[in-house]
Parts: sequence; structure tokens; C-alpha cells
Amino acid sequence: MESKKSGQRAIGQAPLLRRAALLTFVATFVAVLLCSAGSKSAAQVQHRVRPGQTLSRIAKRYHISVAALAAQNRLTTDAALQTGQLLSIPSDGVLFVRRGQTLRSIAKQHHIEADELARANRLRATASLRVGQRLVLPGTDSSDHAPRWGHPRRPGTGTFLRMATHRTARVQLVDRRGAVRRRALPELARLLAPRGSRQTKNPHPQLVRWMARVSDHFGGRTIEIVSGYRPAGGYTRQESRHTQGHAIDFRIRGVPNTELRDYCRTFHHVGVGYYPNSLFVHLDVRRDDTYWVDLSRPGEAPRYAGAGEDNQPEAPTTAAVIDSDISAEPAAADDTAAPVDEAPDQLSDE
Ligand SMILES: [Zn+2]
Repeated sequence: MESKKSGQRAIGQAPLLRRAALLTFVATFVAVLLCSAGSKSAAQVQHRVRPGQTLSRIAKRYHISVAALAAQNRLTTDAALQTGQLLSIPSDGVLFVRRGQTLRSIAKQHHIEADELARANRLRATASLRVGQRLVLPGTDSSDHAPRWGHPRRPGTGTFLRMATHRTARVQLVDRRGAVRRRALPELARLLAPRGSRQTKNPHPQLVRWMARVSDHFGGRTIEIVSGYRPAGGYTRQESRHTQGHAIDFRIRGVPNTELRDYCRTFHHVGVGYYPNSLFVHLDVRRDDTYWVDLSRPGEAPRYAGAGEDNQPEAPTTAAVIDSDISAEPAAADDTAAPVDEAPDQLSDE
């Protein structure tokens, strides 16, 4: 790799080369780190330290002990933190299944028996796992590990608020076996219709299934829809998944978009866009897993962040900011990958 710094005042060729090599190494290291962070995002939550934050404040925020947080990050419990420092938040006996993982592979990773892991999760030893499925490691009291965001009162049912119209609706998305309900499609379509239009398009069943999963994961909190189906025009290109009913821009009341983004990235055949300045997460159905960051503000043309996630600004995702309304339909930026596999879905008439 050619060093970009070669135009700088000469400070001797050898150190310059060393520096270039070091930069390459660091860049590679960061890339590897980001790749692995992407695939285990939900299991391995990261926290970037903000000014004035202490270990105990952060531990309190994640409902974990200071000792566990310190241990996970190889710090002493009285360590001083630096603004911008990245901490990994221990999952404390709870993990979320990643793509390709099986009971056997997870058990092996944690040096336990597969049937032990199955039993702890009331599964059969032969059970196949869903990506994003929550598992508890044996030996940890599952009552101590209620999901961080609480239990949904009605699993499989989402509460939606369409920001532009203030329309709310509760939709039972999946049946008791987790199959998408046929009737949920038009119900959700009405919520996802473009602003000021009665034109609807049924969402992709996978999108409906994900909405159920997201709703359950975040304790049934209200899903705020910023945009769903919209015809091509403006910054929405014909190939955008929004024009096919395969995409949704949304957030969840009381949940930082970074958390929502990380959870969505545990899905498979998924496009996830993070819009820190437009305050939503884009989710779409596609063949190749894709992730991007778009720094545009509402109504602006897409403005993608550089290759490194280091370039991302701290996301303004406090509860107060999340409550603010966005009146403009945001730009779409989701049409770079191959189209989604249109396998016919099993719909439930329940
Ligand atoms: Zn979008």
C-alpha cells in the first residue's frame, strides 16, 4: 500500500515506510475487528465512553456489576476512563445466536456439553437455532437474566406509530409458532404507506417476521415508523427496496438507535443502514448482508461515512432526541446489493 503521507516533508525514507506499514497493519486490524464486531454485535455490546462517564455509571446503565464490566475490559474497578474509549459490555451468561452457529458449536465455545446447553434453554438437543435467538448459558440463573429490555406483554404483536400521520396500531405479526400472519401484511401495509397517499404495498413477509422479533426483543416497545413503502422519486431510486415494500426506516421509543442497529445486524439476508443524523435505522430484505452509515440529515442526499466506523459521529440517540419528529421522508441508500431471494413464504391464516 502506498502511504498517503508521502507528500509530507521528508523525514527519511525508512521511518516513512515503517509508518506506512504500521498504518496498513492498524487499518487491517481495525477492519478485522469491525468484521467480527458485525457478526457478534448483539452478543457483544460495545459502549463508547462519553465525557464524565465512570465505570460505575456505565455498569448501572447496563444493569451489570462494576466488577464484571472491569473484568471484561481488563481494567481495575477504580480505573479512570477516557472519553471515546470503547468498552465491551459483558453479556453475563446470555448470548444471541449468530449465523452458522449450532447448539454444538456454541457449547464447544463455552466448554460445556451441547445437551447441557439445550436443557438450560428448554430445547431438544437436535433443535436448530434461529439467528438472533437468545440463549442462556447453563449455570447462570435465567431469572437473573431477564432480557435487558424486558418481556413483551404480547409476544409476536407489535405496537406501531407512523410518525408522519401519528397513526398508531397494534398488529399481531406472527402466530404462536412464529409464522407470519397473512392478515398482518395489509395491516402493516397501511402503516407503511407513503405520506399523504393511500397507495399501499404489502411488506415482504421476512420484514414482518423481523418486526415481530425486534418488537419482542425490545420488550414490545412502540416501533416508530419514519418511512416504509414509497415510490421512486427524489432521492428514492427505482432499485431502492423501499419501492418494493422490502424496507423500513424506524426506531424504537426509549431504545438507542445504536442498540437497534446492532440487533438488526444479527439477522441474515439483511441490509442495515444507520442514519445517526436522521435518527433512524434502515432495515431491508436482501440476499447479501450489507451495512452502511449515512450521515445525511432528513431530506438530504445520502452522505456515506468513510470506510472506518471510526469516522462515525457519536449518535444522538438519547430518549429526548428520539422523541423528536421528522417531517421529511429521508433519503434511501439501500440499492447497492443483489436483489433478495424471492422464495415463497409460508404464511399463517391463524
Ligand atoms: Zn431506508
